[in-house]
Amino acid sequence: MSVMASERAPARVITEVQVAERSLDLLAPYLSEERLHAITTAGRTVRERLRNRTIFNINSTAQGGGVAELVQALCGYARGAGTDSRWLVIEGDPEFFQITKRIHNNLHDQAGDSQTLTESDRAHYEQVLAENAVALTAYIHPGDIVILHDPQTAGLTPHMLGMGARVIWRSHIGHERHTPIVTSAWNFLRPYVQQADLVILTLPEYAPEWLDKSSFRVIYPSIDPASSKNDLIMPETAQDILKQVGLLSGPTPHTPPLIRREDGSLAPVRSRVDAVTDGELPAPDDPIVVQVARWDRLKGMAGVMRGFAGLNHRPENAHLFLVGPAVSGVADDPEAAQVLAERVEQWRALPDEVRKRIHLTTVPMDDREENAAIINAIQRHATVVVQKSLAEGFGLTVTEAMWKGKPMVGSAVGGIRHQIIDGETGILLPDPSDVEACGQAIRELLMNPDKAARMGAAAKERARELFLPDRHLLQYAELILDTMPEAA
Ligand code: UDP
Repeated sequence: MSVMASERAPARVITEVQVAERSLDLLAPYLSEERLHAITTAGRTVRERLRNRTIFNINSTAQGGGVAELVQALCGYARGAGTDSRWLVIEGDPEFFQITKRIHNNLHDQAGDSQTLTESDRAHYEQVLAENAVALTAYIHPGDIVILHDPQTAGLTPHMLGMGARVIWRSHIGHERHTPIVTSAWNFLRPYVQQADLVILTLPEYAPEWLDKSSFRVIYPSIDPASSKNDLIMPETAQDILKQVGLLSGPTPHTPPLIRREDGSLAPVRSRVDAVTDGELPAPDDPIVVQVARWDRLKGMAGVMRGFAGLNHRPENAHLFLVGPAVSGVADDPEAAQVLAERVEQWRALPDEVRKRIHLTTVPMDDREENAAIINAIQRHATVVVQKSLAEGFGLTVTEAMWKGKPMVGSAVGGIRHQIIDGETGILLPDPSDVEACGQAIRELLMNPDKAARMGAAAKERARELFLPDRHLLQYAELILDTMPEAA
């Protein structure tokens, strides 16, 4: 089935992302003593049992998107707990990423580029991964634990097993309905996934019918409250950052605002964001509606724009920011530039009065922490945060907004159904394509600040209870201990 590494495929370039150690003590301000104690003890146990084995995370992009965000945090804390945890990124060519984007779209029940997955796609997919496997032989040793993330890396499973590693394959995506299109993507992945020692899914209903209950675990993603993305910053600092980068009106600060980097140092924000705007930026007191997402059609940016435009600038001073990464910034997302271009075209066609309240924003990705600090400022300054995805494995952007105490409008799809409690922490839209309902929900939260504040406060507590890294790391610790050779 697979082209094995030994068949002398040319090697691809594997990039190791240097992840700084993050002490578990960084989580102390956010957790009860009991929770901190539990995670510290688990960290010690895993370290002792691993001895000289390494835990490798392997995925297909170092930045842009939820997986990169998660691995950065979890790998950092695992290193802080004294384990040898590392992060490797594979290399693909445009055809490879077109194929994996097709799998990604199909797993979300979307036709994507309308092409079916063929045997020649499989051959190319396997070839590229075999070439990556050649380069991976320099890293992987027998007994190591390899966590492969998402469809892009699933085909590495037989290669990793061949190197004597234990393999956990983790899917961050999936769909609750197993339609023919979803099933076709799972069938593509099946030969690789079935070989893994263990599979991690975000929700049990994402499991294809051929995946035995005993071979997968369910783990919700988490966010890192101590990262630049989620660090507590004061409202005035958030405003200064937004003025500095060119998203709020008013004079830019005399000296650039400082952000706390994850190594503890302070650094000035220097970037300007690229904004497609008619030049009338919101004033600091104007209500702001925000959706942050990659430029991916499944994120529903088009519908948010239509829903907001349908409000006919009532309330009068509200603005909408649609925010995504600079399109060259996300290695494994080939459709981003096209999707952004479509949104710009849609924006241009809006009536003047509406258009000037909507701002399409791309944030540079060359400095991960500065990008994170800008997103943090945008989310913290938001009055209402929207995630109107058409499909969503689990939206980290939703949890980020919840943690910042923001009332949410989200579509009732995939993981979002479990993140937002309708009427308590936000408003769930039963039909993700209903742009009018989206507009109405936004208006309801903008017009009822008390209700919005109550929902935001409840959202924050829900995020603390369910979506912080200690819970995630405990689940990882448990499954790594179960996957270890002597346990098998
Ligand atoms: N993100 C970012 N900059 C951007 C857009 C998105 O840092 O311009 C981050 C966002 O804050 C979140 C992640 O990318 O942490 C997106 O994760 P999510 O699970 O919402 O969606 P995915 O991209 O994985 O489908």
